[in-house]
Amino acid sequence: MPAPDPAHGAELPPFAGITSFMRRPATRDLAGVDVAVVGIPFDGGTSYRSGARFGPRRIREASAMVWGYNNALAVKPLDVLEVVDYGDVNVIPPSITETMANIESEVGAILAAGAAALALGGDHSVSLPLLRAHAREHGPLGVVHFDAHPDTWDHEFDDRPYSHGTPFRRAIEEGIIDPSRYVQVGLRGPTLEAGDWQWARERGVRAITMDDVAEIGLPAVIRATREPLRGPIYVTLDVDAADPAFAPGTGTPEVGGFTSHELLRLVRALRGVEIVGADLVEVSPPYDHGDITALLAANLAFELLSLMAVRRRGG
Ligand code: MN
Ligand code: MN
Repeated sequence: MPAPDPAHGAELPPFAGITSFMRRPATRDLAGVDVAVVGIPFDGGTSYRSGARFGPRRIREASAMVWGYNNALAVKPLDVLEVVDYGDVNVIPPSITETMANIESEVGAILAAGAAALALGGDHSVSLPLLRAHAREHGPLGVVHFDAHPDTWDHEFDDRPYSHGTPFRRAIEEGIIDPSRYVQVGLRGPTLEAGDWQWARERGVRAITMDDVAEIGLPAVIRATREPLRGPIYVTLDVDAADPAFAPGTGTPEVGGFTSHELLRLVRALRGVEIVGADLVEVSPPYDHGDITALLAANLAFELLSLMAVRRRGG
């Protein structure tokens, strides 16, 4: 597939050109495609600050600064995988249910075509239809979920089932997540009630808090995260897992989080895991400063691509 190599600025410097993700071809022709990067510019599920609808575009822009070779994982993912930028799902700003239906059907079509999806949100409500589409393809999923919040509330707004605080409750209820293969990493901060972290734990979900991280250190966190992972795994990365100092541009910032480097290390530590899909959500450019958050998100997306490439290569 003829495309400029994003890593080589002699032909196309990072500030020039059209900003598809890592300068990959913007196309919906999925013949021979391994990974389709797909934007989901929807923030109708947010409970506090909106703006994540602008996330995909800004992450694409920041991705022009991501050079092609991953030193930590020793892989150049674009040499191993055919990656395209699929563009954005057709979102319906005033309707979360119609948007969810569109996400499920559009991403379902990507998966049915034999490509994996790397989704750029959007708020975290987009993960439920993404999980539905992936579960139809792969069965009940194991999940690695980086987040300050468990997003397992029953209802965030009266009796409405869908928002960015409820997707993983719904997914467990629907049986599309296997709780025994589900790990939440980065929980912290005040909650509404004492039981907010308990619902998932009572169902066998492994929850690693930031206090746990401080207590046992990253290597032990990595071991604990990997331990229950087997079979098809979906990775969902809420950028608010990072501390607001490293990711100010997000909808519900929570102090006391990971540094950028810690988060990069935790994602890289999923090397070898059977990752069948991933999303990166909650980047809200209107609250960002100097593109700190978008740049982190672009690099995390690159790490996810690198993991898929390492596995494809048989590393
Ligand atoms: Mn969160
Ligand atoms: Mn979240």
